[in-house]
Amino acid sequence: MGIVKLIIIVLIIWLGFSVWRKLRQSKGNDLPQPSTRKMLSCNVCKMHIPENEAIIQNGKAFCSKKCLG
Ligand SMILES: [Zn+2]
Repeated sequence: MGIVKLIIIVLIIWLGFSVWRKLRQSKGNDLPQPSTRKMLSCNVCKMHIPENEAIIQNGKAFCSKKCLG
């Protein structure tokens, strides 16, 4: 019976799937951006340091114990 119909249906599904995958991939490429670490500037030498490496004291960020005094 309709083998051509079946092929067309499969083709449409495959096309839709590849388009959906492309859309998901382009979205996925945007996702890593928010994970970029927040940078803080040292209160003393103004050097930029990642938030997780900074020393926070009294709401101020310091790059190292040297700047912390
Ligand atoms: Zn510093």
